[in-house]
Amino acid sequence: MQTGTINVQTENILPIIKRYLYSDQEIFLRELVANAVDATQKLKTLSSKGEVKGDLGHLQIEIILDEDAKTLTISDKGIGMTKEEVEKYITQIAFSSAQEFAEKYKDSANAVIGHFGLGFYSAFMVADKVEIKTKSWKDAPAVHWLSDGSTTYEIDEIEKEERGTDIILHIEEAANEYLANNRIQELLTKYCRFLPVEIKFGTTEEKVAPPEGEEDAEPEVHILDNIINNTDPLWKKKPNELTDEDYMSFYRQLYPYGEEPLFWIHLNVDHPFQLTGILYFPKIRNNNFEVRKDRISLYCNQVFVTDQVEQIVPDFLMLLHGVIDSPDIPLNVSRSYLQADPEVKKINKYITRKVADKLDEMFRKDRELFNEKWEHTGVLIKYGMLTEDKFYDKAKKFCLLETTEGGLHTFEEFEELVKPNQTDKNDKLIYIYTNGGDSQHGYVEAAKEKGYQVLKFDAMLDPHFIGKLEGQLENIQFKRVDADTLDQLIEKDENYESVLSEDQETKLKDIFLDTVENQQISVTLKPLTPQDKPLVITRPEFIRRMKDMSNIGGASPYGDMPDMYNVVVNTNHPVISKLLAKRKKENQEHIAKQLYDLALLQQNMLTGAKLTEFINRSVNLMDK
Ligand code: ADP
Repeated sequence: MQTGTINVQTENILPIIKRYLYSDQEIFLRELVANAVDATQKLKTLSSKGEVKGDLGHLQIEIILDEDAKTLTISDKGIGMTKEEVEKYITQIAFSSAQEFAEKYKDSANAVIGHFGLGFYSAFMVADKVEIKTKSWKDAPAVHWLSDGSTTYEIDEIEKEERGTDIILHIEEAANEYLANNRIQELLTKYCRFLPVEIKFGTTEEKVAPPEGEEDAEPEVHILDNIINNTDPLWKKKPNELTDEDYMSFYRQLYPYGEEPLFWIHLNVDHPFQLTGILYFPKIRNNNFEVRKDRISLYCNQVFVTDQVEQIVPDFLMLLHGVIDSPDIPLNVSRSYLQADPEVKKINKYITRKVADKLDEMFRKDRELFNEKWEHTGVLIKYGMLTEDKFYDKAKKFCLLETTEGGLHTFEEFEELVKPNQTDKNDKLIYIYTNGGDSQHGYVEAAKEKGYQVLKFDAMLDPHFIGKLEGQLENIQFKRVDADTLDQLIEKDENYESVLSEDQETKLKDIFLDTVENQQISVTLKPLTPQDKPLVITRPEFIRRMKDMSNIGGASPYGDMPDMYNVVVNTNHPVISKLLAKRKKENQEHIAKQLYDLALLQQNMLTGAKLTEFINRSVNLMDK
């Protein structure tokens, strides 16, 4: 036997690494299995070049857990290592790269993500002793190497029949969770599920139901290898060779409990970076979408890296599900660096463009289907348009505006549709909208009666989206249906004379000022048509928007403001004339109060004691 000293300057790298990577300890298994895969792939390459001759055998990687011996073994049939190679790659390179790693991250533990590069050395995070038994494909004796992670190690020749490498971890007391079958199964499923070389971990049982007619017989039990991975995941295949069912069944494999996706995009690019993947569009319901940031998994050559892909995928696409696989995403760097990384920026742009192109294609290919899916895609598209200008530019062609009648129109179509009737006297196009809510029902009905199209904007993002559209669409202004009286909503050159005298108007205004009892609320008299309501409450667009915005997050000084509204009295309504005709002041006040309460009621603003008072008054009226 021979001993040697590992050539590193810092003797205490292990404690440093252990401390900083504690929460990521489990990645040791990924690192070791990934090495086994590499060794196997290298063998295949050598064989294809004719350098390795003969049958390679079944190139399976096996993970063996021995609870009694307290060992976990990763065994491959790859290229193996000669004694010189073990000395070089393991004791020199692996140890010195671990040292480099520890030094790099000593002061910035938070900066560490996906710790590729720590490699073989990560075994010492869970093992107090690591053995290697390896036989190279070259004609050389097999080697045994043993180390406790300190600066000394043992190395000698052994007998080993099969080509390949066994890494034997003697799991330390503090890490005994890795001696539990379930835990290893869980880790293998998480990290190795799509690795390109078959991985076996123990066996499973399969019960086979007895044939028909022999239902009483005991079911036959088959013992099968427990194979962890699908070595040929769908995203690596050519899109034109795949059917819809292939994509659907892969989705079910990824998200067994997920609702069926709406559609998907197969990403496949070689230049200027390499990236493959499949992104699925889930059904996103209007207001209750929940941005889950772990629905897209990032792989590097089929090795799972992370499901935190914030920097790589644009924010609005975090709503998607699926996988992205790229060897070009730097995995060893801090998050803030990742954000500024030009490669990552390119990837980000590419994904955004692909999503826009796919939506555009669907829009052009089958408009009806696109309309049908709008309910679920609308939120994502609007979110994208709000946050990514490049996406806006593409999506403005297929983004749809929905009317209360259920119509779905592109920006261009809608403009054509409303131009004749909704252009105001200053040649501005007015888009009227409602954010749903029963309180706007009456206003919507009135607007429709006038032939106006009313848009539905009831999603959480819509207030922002409206702001964005006003900034982008020329000569268009949005007004909520209750922003003003119908004549003012879209100002046209129609003027009605008031049937009241100046004197009567002064009197009328005083009565209503008394009724409203609030200095902050303005009372205006307007000669509308007799068909318009006698009294309406309007909520000025600008102030209401400020309040809405502050309600959905953006800090705004308007948030705490009391509700602002105007009271508009229609001087041409017959009830108003009736009110003035009453001789007793008390009766006039009575009608004024009743009208005001009805208007409040329509806006959902009559509550509590005021509502009770209104109900009592109404009942009394019927009694009269
Ligand atoms: P990396 O994989 O990033 O090169 P590692 O520390 O994981 O770093 O491994 C160092 C080297 O040891 C590898 O490059 C490889 O040459 C060798 N090695 C590790 N594991 C195996 C294995 N199972 N079979 C053959 N060689 C291996």
